[in-house]
Amino acid sequence: MQNILIKNIKGLAGILENNQAALRGANLNELQQIENAFLAIENGKIAYYGKMEEMAGINDWRNLEIIDAEGKFVIPAYCDSHSHIVFAKYRETEFVDRINGLTYEEIGEKGGGILNSANNLANLSEDELFESAMERLELVKSFGTGAIEIKSGYGLTVTSELKILRVIKRLKEASDLTIKATFLGAHAFPAEFKENNAGYIRQIIDEMLPVIEAENLADYIDVFCERNYFSPEQLDEILAAGVKHGLKPKIHVNQFSILGGVEIGVKHGAVSVDHLEEFDENDTVTMSKANTIATALPSCSFFLGIPYSPVKKMLKNNIAVALASDYNPGSTPSGNMQFVNSLACIQMKLTPEEALNSTTINGAYAMELGDEMGSITIGKKANLIITKKISSLAYIPYSFGENCVERIILSK
Ligand SMILES: [Zn+2]
Repeated sequence: MQNILIKNIKGLAGILENNQAALRGANLNELQQIENAFLAIENGKIAYYGKMEEMAGINDWRNLEIIDAEGKFVIPAYCDSHSHIVFAKYRETEFVDRINGLTYEEIGEKGGGILNSANNLANLSEDELFESAMERLELVKSFGTGAIEIKSGYGLTVTSELKILRVIKRLKEASDLTIKATFLGAHAFPAEFKENNAGYIRQIIDEMLPVIEAENLADYIDVFCERNYFSPEQLDEILAAGVKHGLKPKIHVNQFSILGGVEIGVKHGAVSVDHLEEFDENDTVTMSKANTIATALPSCSFFLGIPYSPVKKMLKNNIAVALASDYNPGSTPSGNMQFVNSLACIQMKLTPEEALNSTTINGAYAMELGDEMGSITIGKKANLIITKKISSLAYIPYSFGENCVERIILSK
């Protein structure tokens, strides 16, 4: 990668030195910034930065790109720690059906829902899935995402789940985004296992997990713990098996009901517990003592019209909070992390600083990438956004729907 010098930066924000873990509580509101700054990138890493008047003479002009960022901000690229971007088809017909008042059952009968996503996916080749996912990665990159976690879960058969994970493995190599892979075979029970849930769990544990470990196809294991999906007991069993195969948990819990999944996730050393639209006192106590990150998905609440996670309350209780997109065809057809920042401020009442930290450094920690990216730190990978000319950082969440990203610089 070419060395880069960015000069005349209006505001270099998200500076964080000597930090070891996700930001908690009041620290989430701290966003260090230098006005009228420069930043130098050498060999893909942040080499040094400071105020313009301190910019040292350049020794080597060869192989150096100089960017004038007058009027523009430089911030860390977004780290989106929860997505499902390998899927067969968008589901906007379902969206229209929902507007027209059809029930979930009626929509399912017409060809909607997770099970139908799985049927569509079974008919696509690995190459077709790879091509469409690459396009989605380019799309989220244009909105400033530099690292992303991608889940399986639209396969629900041994063949299809492994197909998705092999696609994600190819994406890791082909894309300039940094990618983490999560195995979500336990997303829903396939129709043929409706009366035999234990049979599908045996497939996950005995047939999928050994291949995933042998081919190094995933970093994490996920389960959708919810009424009519996977029970807390089934969550416990699947997580234990995943951990045995070297996968740490990152799980779907508390979207519609509180079943005790948060505690089970923490017990198994979950990197994050995600959704948390419902969150009670027990969960608060558990999470305030845990290293596990609470990941909220405001775009999903927006799209489904369900409650937003109570992140303000979580911060008061010193819980580490990250925000992610949940990009998927059913409940969140958008991976725009600037919009996530807008919803965080408008609906969850986070400050722009809290929103930015939740989607950069804490998102990075929610993928165990916090030591490598997510902040302006000497020695970290240069994963940065140069904004368009904007009046202040608060303009980004304020101007919802606008793309404030002019350029993204990424290194892996
Ligand atoms: Zn999800």
